[in-house]
Amino acid sequence: MSLLLFLAGLPTAAAAAYLLMSSPTGASMDALGGRELMVQLTYLASSVLFILGLRSLTKPDQARRGMQLAALGMAFAIVGTLLNSGILTYSWIIGGLILGAVLGYPLGKFVPMTAMPQRIAFSHMFGALAATLVGVGEYYHSIQIEGAAGIERFKMAAIGFEVLFGSLTVTGSFMAFGKLQEFITGRPITFKGQNFFNLLLFTAAIGCFVWMIFNPFDVRVFYVMLAAGFAIGVLMVLPIGGADMPVVVSLLNSYAGLAASATGFAIDNNVLIIAGALDGASGFILSIIMSKAMNRSFGNVLFGAFGSVVTSSGKTSEGLVAKSISAEDAAVQLAYAGRVVFVPGYGMAVAQAQHQVRELAELIEKNGGEVKYAIHPVAGRMPGHMNVLLAEANVPYDKMYDMEEINDSFHETDVVVVIGANDVVNPAAKTDKSSPIYGMPILNVSEARNIIVLKRGMNPGFAGIENELFFDEKTNMLFGDAKTSLTKLVSEVKSL
Ligand code: NDP
Repeated sequence: MSLLLFLAGLPTAAAAAYLLMSSPTGASMDALGGRELMVQLTYLASSVLFILGLRSLTKPDQARRGMQLAALGMAFAIVGTLLNSGILTYSWIIGGLILGAVLGYPLGKFVPMTAMPQRIAFSHMFGALAATLVGVGEYYHSIQIEGAAGIERFKMAAIGFEVLFGSLTVTGSFMAFGKLQEFITGRPITFKGQNFFNLLLFTAAIGCFVWMIFNPFDVRVFYVMLAAGFAIGVLMVLPIGGADMPVVVSLLNSYAGLAASATGFAIDNNVLIIAGALDGASGFILSIIMSKAMNRSFGNVLFGAFGSVVTSSGKTSEGLVAKSISAEDAAVQLAYAGRVVFVPGYGMAVAQAQHQVRELAELIEKNGGEVKYAIHPVAGRMPGHMNVLLAEANVPYDKMYDMEEINDSFHETDVVVVIGANDVVNPAAKTDKSSPIYGMPILNVSEARNIIVLKRGMNPGFAGIENELFFDEKTNMLFGDAKTSLTKLVSEVKSL
């Protein structure tokens, strides 16, 4: 998740940085004065910091440092831009920085973890808007000073790409934000011939883009392309269900990065080219990883109108009864268990129960038990969601195990505590070919000796299907909000 956050911040801040520039013209290194050399060196330092930051984000225990390096890189990029000798007045720039800080601080500080996907989509929207505006401004500016005939093809291609991908990312991100925040229906909105219509529109937009490369003076076509970009963003996200939005957000992140990179080519800015390319590539890779972990083909997420609520799978709970357990009895099991594995899921994020989870784990360890945390790659609603929450509660990184690391040892586990997880522990993914999650890799919780599931009721998770694990004879359900149940468990274990 920190990776996603970083990726979200990158185009926004980078795009803001190029908005600050009033001089788009580049200069060869020979012609650079001392100040220009400073700018280029600052950009170089910034790019190196971005790369080191991204690298650190690959390990949870280095993620915090990675974010700090990336933030430092962004500070360098902004300082470098402010040093630009083409800046005539700083008053608008200072106003923009203050406005950005006033809007950005509460966004970073107060938006809850559970609302992070929509907050990221919102940030992308601004980043892409900045890139689009720079593209339009640069086109307009070039026409005015160079005359349309003077815009080189390469530069026009960069501007066109930036504007087309920037504009579709603006509206696409807004739609994703709306679906996640639920002021736009999360259900896929489809109509007959939709994919064909979308393809046609996209082809027309590409046609405008190619036309502009050879006819840069055709201002009307430029604005038709811009309008098509905005329309594509809306139409592209309409048929995708709210639950698949994190994948879409990650893909749009990639588009915003590519638009930023194109901006770098258009205005001859090295740090934008590098940062945009990093953003574009990592956003794309992340989207593919997420699709894989959800057992969806990438094309399916984008064109298949997924994410609709599935009301049934092949198996139902008819005739089966889920056993419930009291906090007192569950506490006895946990207090004397040798090996315990906690499996957090989306419900832990909703309940914000991570601190109570850590407290309970420490009590079990005090009694001589061993506690591990099993992290499924798509538990929660964004990559790394569980790692970040547990890290926030000071759970040691070396106790968090990725699915592949822990999946073979569930059979040796005395008690598994499932905290608001559902789909990521659903055996139907292995056993029920008719299930929509069939084929998705899951945590082998059903192999443990005892299973305690903490959730409020028998509601399905994201996939909208029942979970046979809850009816397993080894499973006991501790019903209630996860935080309340864990608080009870903590006090019961303490009193034993
Ligand atoms: P699920 O969405 O499958 O299940 C969450 C469960 O939490 C629900 O069944 C709900 O049941 C329970 N719950 C909700 N609130 C609380 C609460 N306050 N206290 C206790 N329980 C609560 O979560 P998983 O983490 O298992 O799976 C994630 C799903 O999201 C997967 O299907 C994945 O594909 C999908 N997804 C993940 C993305 C990612 O990047 N991580 C991106 C997009 C989709 P009840 O209401 O009965 O309490």
